[in-house]
Order: sequence, then structure tokens, then C-alpha cells
Amino acid sequence: MNVYDSERMVDALAPLGYGLVDTPNDADLVLLNTCHIREKAAEKVYSELGLIKRMQAAKAKKGERMVVGVAGCVAQAEGKEIMRRAPHVELVVGPQTYHRLPRLLEELDDGAKRAIDIDYPSESKFDDLPVSAQTNGTAAFVTIQEGCDKFCTFCVVPYTRGAEMSRPVASILDECKSLAAQGVREITLLGQNVNAYHGLGPNDVEWGLGRILSELSLIPGIERLRFTTSHPRDMDDELIEAISSVPEVMPYLHLPVQAGSDKILKAMNRHHTAESYLATIDRLKRARPGLAVSGDFIVGFPGETDEDFAQTLALVTKVGYASAYSFKYSPRPGTPAAEKGTPVPPEVMDARLQSLQQLLSEQSLAFNQGSVGKTMSVLFDKPGRKPGQLIGKSPYLQSVVVEAPKRLIGEIASVHINEAGPNSLKGNVVIEEER
Ligand code: SAH
Ligand code: SF4
Repeated sequence: MNVYDSERMVDALAPLGYGLVDTPNDADLVLLNTCHIREKAAEKVYSELGLIKRMQAAKAKKGERMVVGVAGCVAQAEGKEIMRRAPHVELVVGPQTYHRLPRLLEELDDGAKRAIDIDYPSESKFDDLPVSAQTNGTAAFVTIQEGCDKFCTFCVVPYTRGAEMSRPVASILDECKSLAAQGVREITLLGQNVNAYHGLGPNDVEWGLGRILSELSLIPGIERLRFTTSHPRDMDDELIEAISSVPEVMPYLHLPVQAGSDKILKAMNRHHTAESYLATIDRLKRARPGLAVSGDFIVGFPGETDEDFAQTLALVTKVGYASAYSFKYSPRPGTPAAEKGTPVPPEVMDARLQSLQQLLSEQSLAFNQGSVGKTMSVLFDKPGRKPGQLIGKSPYLQSVVVEAPKRLIGEIASVHINEAGPNSLKGNVVIEEER
């Protein structure tokens, strides 16, 4: 979502004459878009700000100005702290107010020392941003839902992104049509709880994600649809029907479970059990044979015992993930879990993370190896490292490397897979598909 937000910030600033540059050294404005989800991500901001300070000083020596700003969830959560720790930051803007960037820059131009906006405004930023997002890619992100009301006890999202809100149907359709007209073939719909989407459609009728996917599949040029991140609790019948019957919906679903112990899931306030999660996966796989699943895991949540952790490994073994993200629990300020429960010692956390990651990498390698000998559709989006190579994505988001002419960039072709590694596949093009 931060990638998407950054692109939209560029859209918002374009009318003022700003454009993207390749390095920050000579920029008139450096905006750091930031993530607060784990401590490591948040701390990184301050080290980056240190680097940028030196660039700012080098520019000042030449008599030129560089405005430094911080955007995103760290800005939202620690705006004042940033200004205290990094006095060279003049601009702070939250994830729900970046459409106001032009106004904030104007305040600075008018002589204000600093400009900060970390409100949760009543207007939606989407109403204010330029209608059509600009893209130069073949695959694009589109945010359709933001914020969260679920309050998992470890998570900062409900505090940084705010309450759950769904973007109206018409605004999503407009943006996707404009992307398709620019050559985009694949759209990934984004939301912290994307399957909780319930936006207003025509005649004030509420639409769910299933209906949105069906509608988007009708846009000429859009060949692939994805959505992330889904919550196990919000997998409703309409969505499962769309996953089953809309061929443009890719057979690959990110469905985080976090842990395999019901005691820990309860302490996390996840509102699902290991069993209900497995039942959902089962239902999805029956609806869409061949569906592959990815997930997120947290190890070392306060109070997690060896037995609880063993249940996470057992669940992973049952599901068989195509890929997954796993993290050590990071206490976040203001979240309920940060204040209670018995912390898991760091060395235990390390050992658990290592054994979970070992199992998950075995599973993803096995998944990749299962692709060898198959023919799958690949959307090519960039040249490979070696001359004559192209890189694309399989329906399961695997990177696929082939030898093929550059004109296939932006196109979908059938590729026979010959080789599989932990992070990518190799193959050769068998049929170039017609648009
Ligand atoms: N809405 C999604 C997740 C959003 S956050 C969901 O409910 O699954 C992305 C991932 O970051 C989470 O799935 C979780 O695995 C991880 N995460 C969030 N807060 C964390 C914390 N405090 N410590 C470690 N990992 C965390
Ligand atoms: Fe965070 Fe996801 Fe839980 Fe919401 S559902 S609180 S975004 S982990």
C-alpha cells in the first residue's frame, strides 16, 4: 500500500511541477514514505533521515534548498517525535492526508517553519486526488479499502491508518479503467482488510469484494486480478463464488493466520481458530481447484510456549504454503499486547523463527518444483539481468525468467517451466497470447 500511496503522492504533486527523480541527492523535495508495523521498520526512518540530512547540507552549501518530509504511518504515529529528533524535517503528513501535500508545501513557501497534517479528515483523500492514477507499468496496485476495526492486540494499523473505510465503487472503476487504457493488464486491489470491502455502488447499494472483482474482470485489457490482504473472517460466499468462477481472479490467495495455537489466536484477538482457518482454506480449495495459499506468521507473541509454537508448525504442515512472510513479534507502543503477557526470550524467538522459516522455505521450494513440466501463463514486466532475458510473473506470483524478445514486455504468454529454484522459475515461451 505504501508503494501505491507513494505513486499517488507523485500524482498529487505533479500539478505543482514536481516529478520523480532517480536519487534524492539533487531533489528539491524528499518525501520518505514510512511503515510503523514493526519497530525495525520505524527505526529505519531515523537512520534514513540522517543520510538525507547530509544531502540537504550539501545542497545548502550550493545555496539550494531541499525540503525534507516524512509521510506514512510513522509520520502518523510519531509526527511530533520526528520533528524533535530530526529538526531538519519540515513536513510531516499522514496516510490519510497526503492529498493536502500541495497546501502544506504552500505553507512552507509562505514562510512557515514547519507544516504538519496528521488528521483523520472527514473528506476522503480519493475525492481530492487526480482521478486517474498514472502508471508506466503492466501491473498496478489500486487501494479500495483502508484502515481496520479488528484490533488484533499486536497491531498498530487501527491506530495509524484509522477506522475501516471502503472507497466508492465508481471511483475504483474509474481508476481501473484509466489504468487499463494505459496498458495495465494486472490489477492488485489493496486494503488492510481488503475482503471486508463494502463500498457504495450505484443507487446506494453496497458492494462486496466479490462483486467488485466480477465487474473489474469485464474491463477490456484487464487479464489478471489479485487482492491483498484478506482476513480469514471475511471470506464471504460472494467472494468465494468470484474466486471460483471469475477466471481473471488469479488462483493465489494471501490469507494470514499468524499462529496455530487457539490460545495465542485468542490472545491476539484474531476472531478465528486454527480449525476455522483450515476449514476456510478447504472451502476455497474446493471452490478453486489448484488454488495456492500464502500467509503471514508472528512467532514469539507474549505467552507463546513450545507447545503453542508446535501447533503453528503443525498448521503450516497441514496447509502447505506456496510462500509466506514470518516475523518475530515486535511490541508496538499503544497496542494491548505490548502491555501484558510474558515476553518470549529473544533467543527462543530466534530459534522459533528459524525453524518456521526452514519449514516454509521447504514448502515454497516444493511448490516451485511442482511447476516444472507445467505450462503456465506469464505476464512479462521487465528485462532480465542477462541480455535477451525477460522476467514475468506466473499466476502464483512466482518470478519466471525466459529468453524472449523485448516486445513481449507488457504481454502474457504461455511458458513451459523447465527449472525451479527457491525464488524463481525458468522456462521457454510456447505461445504468445493474443490480446
Ligand atoms: N491485515 C492483515 C495484516 C496487516 S499487517 C491481517 O490481518 O492479516 C502485515 C503483517 O505484519 C501481519 O500479518 C503480521 O504478520 C505482521 N505484524 C503486524 N504487527 C506485528 C507486530 N507487532 N510484530 C510482528 N509482526 C507484526
Ligand atoms: Fe492489524 Fe490485520 Fe489485525 Fe487489522 S486485521 S488489526 S490490520 S493484523
